[in-house]
Amino acid sequence: MAAFLSRILTFAALAAIAFADGEDKAPLCDPGDGPDAVALRPRLLRRADSFTCPVFRSWGGVTDTCSGDAIVWNNRTTLNKHVTLYYLPHDKVIVNSGAAYLKTAIDLIAGSLDTGMPLYQQWGAGTNIYFGIVGDHDAYGSARPEQENEKLKHCEVVVRYPDPTAPQSEISLRTTKAAVHEFYHCVQYAQNLKGRNSGSSERRSWWMEGTARFFDGVIFPIPANINILGRGAFPEEYNPSVSLVEQSYEAALFWHYLVQTGIKPSEVNAWVATKLGRNSVKEDLVDIEGTPLFANNWLGFAQAFVDNKINYTASIPIPIVNRIAAPSPLQVSLSVGGKMNTTGSDVAGFTFNLRRVAFPASTVHSLEPPKGTPCSVRLVGDSAWRPVSSAFNFTTNSEAAQVEVVCACNKSVACSSRFLIERSR
Ligand SMILES: [Zn+2]
Repeated sequence: MAAFLSRILTFAALAAIAFADGEDKAPLCDPGDGPDAVALRPRLLRRADSFTCPVFRSWGGVTDTCSGDAIVWNNRTTLNKHVTLYYLPHDKVIVNSGAAYLKTAIDLIAGSLDTGMPLYQQWGAGTNIYFGIVGDHDAYGSARPEQENEKLKHCEVVVRYPDPTAPQSEISLRTTKAAVHEFYHCVQYAQNLKGRNSGSSERRSWWMEGTARFFDGVIFPIPANINILGRGAFPEEYNPSVSLVEQSYEAALFWHYLVQTGIKPSEVNAWVATKLGRNSVKEDLVDIEGTPLFANNWLGFAQAFVDNKINYTASIPIPIVNRIAAPSPLQVSLSVGGKMNTTGSDVAGFTFNLRRVAFPASTVHSLEPPKGTPCSVRLVGDSAWRPVSSAFNFTTNSEAAQVEVVCACNKSVACSSRFLIERSR
């Protein structure tokens, strides 16, 4: 295939018609006030009221120690203070699972917290976290900050007891991911309660859920043989036609891409620590247009997405569900000196699109990309993308050929994706 393609055409960089240097970068739950947690909280409050243990009553009041009905199963030194695991001894689901399964389940959850600890410990120093295991809960986990004078007093988490009747590899993965996912919400609250509370937009999910999902994926990636996808809950389900800031858990894919390019998870966390809630999608878009972490990496993300080449850490692939199908090519038929503007819809802020253009045999065309829109091109069948910032020539030999173009809008407003095409011979 490659030999065939190189025989029929070449890319030619001319004087004023240069490629930019090709840089081919290899690159659930519910938080307290997230969009879906608003509905969840009343259920938690009712549940909390039924617990006799002060830690669960702390949904309405606070005590640092737990005694009486609930069992303090384990105390773990962490974040300079502690995480405490609790469950109720008369929780029917837990009791009915049997003592052996209970031990397995608690070891699983405690072990996942231990696994997440080295990553989180440095970020949430001084945070008290209460961690409850409940037999029956609507979500795999939930987290909520207890605040005092606009500071985090402590963080409360509940995780659903792993269902003993579910496939164990699947339920183990869900449970371990939920534990470290909720744990990271506590880190978010500890570092940036203001950011979470500020603004009125309900669309905080892309950064609160997206980064929590990212970190649970760093710690517990989804292996190829376990299928837990659904409801847009995982990075595999990223939707390229929706702006990054209007996604939720699936936004984790972008963070995984960044780490693949060499950006450290701690840098992602550092950004989370400074992020402010906003009042609209538009304001979020303005934020990220002015943030190099987003604006400078958006085209690379688009390329990697098209190629389905984004990994969890440890090189475990993240197989993308919403792949972009190869578009029908625009057939170009110009006489020498003829010009045309390609049509097609604009690219919305922090989305991207993919198009193809088909050129007849034995012609030279120049393509001028839309000003201000980062785009990359390649010959259909090639693997490497070539970023383009100004017009470039495309030459076919004895056979027709196609190029594909990805344009990634790193702006707060829609970007043009219209190319000017001119035939020079
Ligand atoms: Zn969450």
